[in-house]
Amino acid sequence: MEQKELVLSPEVAFDEAALADYLAKNPPFGPHRGHRLYRRSIDARGRTVKVRVLVVPAEGPDLPYEQPAQQVGTAEEVHIIGAGPGGLWAALACIAEGKKPVVLERGKSVRDRRRDLVRITREGLVDPDSNYCFGEGGAGTYSDGKLYTRASKRGDVRKVLQQLVWFGAPDTILLDAHPHVGTNKLPGIIEKMREFIISCGGEIHFGTRVTAFERTNNRISALQLQGGARMPVQTVLLATGHSARDVFEMLAAAHIYIEAKPLAIGVRVEHPQQLIDQLQYHCDARGDYLPPASYSIVQQAQGRGVYSFCMCPGGIIAPCATGNEEIVTNGWSPSKRNNPFANSGFVVELQLADALPGGIDAFGMLRLQQQIERRAWELGGGLQIAPAQRMLDFVKGRLSTDLPDCSYRPGVKSVELNQVFPRFIEVRMAEALREISKRMPSYYTNDAILVGPESRTSSPVRIPRDPSSRAHPQIENLFPVGEGAGYAGGIVSAAIDGELSALAAVKYLNV
Ligand SMILES: Cc1cc2nc3c(=O)[nH]c(=O)nc-3n(C[C@H](O)[C@H](O)[C@H](O)COP(=O)(O)OP(=O)(O)OC[C@H]3O[C@@H](n4cnc5c(N)ncnc54)[C@H](O)[C@@H]3O)c2cc1C
Repeated sequence: MEQKELVLSPEVAFDEAALADYLAKNPPFGPHRGHRLYRRSIDARGRTVKVRVLVVPAEGPDLPYEQPAQQVGTAEEVHIIGAGPGGLWAALACIAEGKKPVVLERGKSVRDRRRDLVRITREGLVDPDSNYCFGEGGAGTYSDGKLYTRASKRGDVRKVLQQLVWFGAPDTILLDAHPHVGTNKLPGIIEKMREFIISCGGEIHFGTRVTAFERTNNRISALQLQGGARMPVQTVLLATGHSARDVFEMLAAAHIYIEAKPLAIGVRVEHPQQLIDQLQYHCDARGDYLPPASYSIVQQAQGRGVYSFCMCPGGIIAPCATGNEEIVTNGWSPSKRNNPFANSGFVVELQLADALPGGIDAFGMLRLQQQIERRAWELGGGLQIAPAQRMLDFVKGRLSTDLPDCSYRPGVKSVELNQVFPRFIEVRMAEALREISKRMPSYYTNDAILVGPESRTSSPVRIPRDPSSRAHPQIENLFPVGEGAGYAGGIVSAAIDGELSALAAVKYLNV
């Protein structure tokens, strides 16, 4: 593809009018050919921050994406458990293929769910069916809405972004190298998606937890629902996310094979955003045009990767537990990313042997995750108060006498974090931080706070599937989808997985 890269100042690249003016005066393909903006990325490697803008010729009309719609109210049904990105994109694909999606979601609509999130923050009380992980839009709704992914080999990333724009996301997500939507905008997008699915004749049932699978030989014949109802099914897409521990129990109870999966566990680290801006942009203040800076860190420590995860510039550390006797952290940010803190997961890659010294057990990793979350809850003292420690105090093994301001709203308590984590996690985090201090001295500061644990980085269990049919190898009409099944990590990859799994389920029905 013919393209040109323009290297511009942030003042021009991030100001719509200034950019249009610059391009009018400097037409990239000459005065007689139009152009389209294709990609925008920040280059902060030199002393002066630049923005690289890729432009392509605007030959032919650039038609906006249109989501395929048709009436499917009386069509063959596909049952989808879970209304996260995996389940919702599966529903959209079913409609495009002329099947009727019936989505069963244990949580509430985005609007009703919001009240439960406020309750977690203000009162420290978690509704096990409605929280940061469960409810309409899944874990993706009140997430940060970062949309970059390494899943381009798995499917059409741009199509997912175009669909999001069609449902109301800003079209800059098609341009920016690191697209971001923000927690304030995601719920509206998810609502529009629901309205679309229902307008096409699909169904979405909230407050509908699936409690058991009825199995007849190598098929799921019916689902049992909370309250005792029974729902016969032809095919099931299981898109229940990484936190639905009861679903893993249900699969085991129905003798459906699942296996332990490695994941990463650590803490959320939070710095003043200004410090990260100074570190990344090499300046005292980032000015009016550059977005709050982010970072990505990878460090080897005693043979394992220790890395930053889901970094949220200008963000908030969120209480993401799905039960009352556990602490789980994650992060989000509004579209403007205008909070004074920068937070990120800082996690150690685990191996199956860490959790399963005695042999193979599908629930080994889950138990390790659960023990850490419960220990954190005990040390925090309840009501979602999270254990925390200043960064240098953690590395030097001393209790923090006080804690800096922190965005985690239920509250933090000074605790020695080595009491929360098994030693193989704690020593690697400390060693990695010591190493990082050598190349990023200002990152290593006692003004940074570690809040723990960050323990739901991916699913602790894999629900296997046959690579060619995408169905479970034992159960021909069960299609494990998304992050909970162990085949996606993040909004975009779960969406891609949802669409591809729906196409596989439709193919199964059509044979
Ligand atoms: C705070 C936070 C911030 C995040 N930030 C980002 C980010 O910036 N970018 C990014 O790409 N990813 C982010 N993520 C991760 C992202 O949200 C997930 O990877 C993604 O949502 C996974 O999609 P999924 O559809 O596979 O599962 P989920 O989104 O987890 O959805 C599963 C759904 O299934 C429902 N369910 C579970 N059990 C049952 C049952 N028995 N019956 C009926 N329904 C059930 C749940 O209620 C839930 O709605 C974040 C996650 C969190 C929690």
